[in-house]
This record gives sequence, C-alpha cells and structure tokens, in this order.
Amino acid sequence: MREKLYRFMSGRNGMDELSRMESWLVLILLLAGVLTRLGIFTVLALILMIHMYFRVFSKNTAKRYEENQRYVNFRYGRTVQWNRAKKHMGQMKTHRFYRCPACKQKVRVPRGHGRIEISCPKCREKFIRRS
Ligand SMILES: [Zn+2]
Repeated sequence: MREKLYRFMSGRNGMDELSRMESWLVLILLLAGVLTRLGIFTVLALILMIHMYFRVFSKNTAKRYEENQRYVNFRYGRTVQWNRAKKHMGQMKTHRFYRCPACKQKVRVPRGHGRIEISCPKCREKFIRRS
C-alpha cells in the first residue's frame, strides 16, 4: 500500500506551502459553512479543495513550484510589513515620525525636545518640526 502510494506520488507536486495554506482555508470555510449555514462557504471550500488536490497531484512541478514561490514571497512581504508596523507602534510613545520633505525618507526623532531641527539621514535636508 505504502509502495503503491509512493509510486503514484512520484513525479507529482505533493504538498507545499501553498497547498497547506489552502487546506487550512478549506477547513475554515467548512467551519464557517456549518456555523452560518450559508451554502456559499461550502461551495467555496469545495472549489478550493479541488484546486488544492489538482496542485498536489499535478505533474507540472515547474509551474506548481513557481506558484508556490509566488505565494511564499507574498507571505514573506506581508510578514515584513507587519513586523515593521508592530515596531512602529511600539515606538509611538517615545518617538515621533516625520517624512523628509525632500526625499520622503521616514525619520524618527525622540519626543519631548520641543522644536528641533531634523537633518535627514538620507539626503541631509534640514527641516524644523516639533518633537
Ligand atoms: Zn531626505
């Protein structure tokens, strides 16, 4: 049985990050369908499940790899953005953020020093703001 499954799966894409994410989404959609009793969730779950199994059993691994890479890169970008936002929120109490009027570079200054002259770390432009 194991041997048969192994032979069947050889040359096929199998599970990757994208299909793992899809299988979670299927589960969530099915749960949403049960909780809300809206048929649309079940239909969406089915469509997604078909798409997921299509990718898992697909023999066009190059194309599937490319899709997966796109998803992984997308997720990485979101994580970076989220971490940046989190860091920014953590510093809101102690710092103020301004954009350089010349080059739009974000500049961070400590709060509580009154009016100060800020010099942009990127283009050396000087501007005055309240800290
Ligand atoms: Zn600048």
